[in-house]
Amino acid sequence: MASCERYIVAALELGFSRAVFLPGLKLCCRPEIRMYCNPEQCQNYGTTWVCPPGCGSIEECQERVLGYRGGIVVQTVSKIPLNDGKWGRLGSLQREHNSRLLAFADRIRAEGCVVLPLTTGGCIVCESCTFPQGPCRKPGRRMHALSAYGINVGDLCKQAGLEYSFTEGIVYYTACLLLE
Ligand code: SF4
Repeated sequence: MASCERYIVAALELGFSRAVFLPGLKLCCRPEIRMYCNPEQCQNYGTTWVCPPGCGSIEECQERVLGYRGGIVVQTVSKIPLNDGKWGRLGSLQREHNSRLLAFADRIRAEGCVVLPLTTGGCIVCESCTFPQGPCRKPGRRMHALSAYGINVGDLCKQAGLEYSFTEGIVYYTACLLLE
């Protein structure tokens, strides 16, 4: 427990707005959420190792997450000015959030802990993903997708006691780092 409190401090030092440790977290991978991963509704479908079909079936994802003993839910909460630059700003905020998550995961791995990061916006480890031409370059650092795992982010935030909404002018980028 003491080490997890240290991780929370580390997450906040890295710039996350909020970080909550959930011991014993068992994520439920829901097919009805995974069904939104399809070529008609997402341009990322079939383009990376973290989207279907590269990430494996929903059953494989479920089995993978059950191998972890808990998780830390982190959020980057930002105010977005309601002007024309909104969408470009959202992209850069998401990238900052994911860079922070990658640094957080690397920091915990450096202590010998096995972690699995789940986020939105894809894996940012490489400039471009090798899928489907070649194997993943860094399977140990890969950043998995909450949507591909069928995770209900609203429910996850509720479990962590965190706010999550689509309020105009505020974005809640959320990720989960599973700990073995
Ligand atoms: S580590 Fe690189 S090759 Fe592997 S999923 Fe991420 S971007 Fe793709």
